[in-house]
Amino acid sequence: QWIYLNGEYVSKENAKISVYDHGFLYGDGIFEGIRIYGGNIFRCKEHLDRLYDSAKSIMLDIPLTREEMQGALVGTIRKNGLRDGYIRLVVSRGPGNLGLDPLRCPAAYVVIIVEQLSIYPEDAYRDGLRSVSVSPRRNLPDALNPKIKSLNYLNNVLVKIQSNQAGVGEAIMLNAQGYVAEGSSDNIFVVKRGVVYTPPCYIGALEGITRGAIMELCERLGYKLKEEPFTLHDVYAADEVFFTGTAAEVIAVREVDGRAIGEGRAGPVTTRLLAEFRKLVTVDGVK
Ligand code: PMP
Repeated sequence: QWIYLNGEYVSKENAKISVYDHGFLYGDGIFEGIRIYGGNIFRCKEHLDRLYDSAKSIMLDIPLTREEMQGALVGTIRKNGLRDGYIRLVVSRGPGNLGLDPLRCPAAYVVIIVEQLSIYPEDAYRDGLRSVSVSPRRNLPDALNPKIKSLNYLNNVLVKIQSNQAGVGEAIMLNAQGYVAEGSSDNIFVVKRGVVYTPPCYIGALEGITRGAIMELCERLGYKLKEEPFTLHDVYAADEVFFTGTAAEVIAVREVDGRAIGEGRAGPVTTRLLAEFRKLVTVDGVK
């Protein structure tokens, strides 16, 4: 396995970075998780847009143009001979001194890792996941700037710890006001009387690429879609609930906090959206 590290391919064992890296010391950096389907990078432009917008927002100079970055992604995939898998692209502030000041960090680190993906077993897509709501809240400023896909994932890690303890695959995180925000690494949707709902990003949800693709599919398939705040009550009372994300794709939820959702398995809208999403990924991407 070859890792792209600041313009060079190094073996996994030799892919090392400085302990003075501010990504390591402070979570000062950004990242993307991207899928490769049949040799295509799914929604490459959207991922690069989100990465470069995040970089702009935190005043991080990415030492590659978008074209060069796309070239580096393609190069790393080829070097590893992968046709289906997952790409983790990380840009951290790079090494500085122990102070917070990013001005002391002359050069960002760019790391690209491609790997096989271990996802939910296929029956989970049919039967749905069990889920719980958890106590960590989307905190500030992340809750106000959820579009920045930063390396500050402590809340998400705390959510994961609680979901592990509850023995569930993904959990539901609320924002400070108690509105439903998202999962630990997935966006959330609910379906009620044929209408599809997802929280607006200002509630504290990442502007997920999969979320965007599902919103487009809803429009194309004629489902009414509303981006509006909702609470756990609306989740409990929903006909269908599902999570979306690069790794999870579209995964149904059959139970939340002990309440069965709908029929207790993937409902018709979720099933249709998953099928259409899987068609889309085979045609929509950069070679
Ligand atoms: N929310 C969070 C907090 C995430 O980390 C992710 C995964 N990147 C998502 C939502 C889903 O976004 P995407 O569809 O772009 O993977």
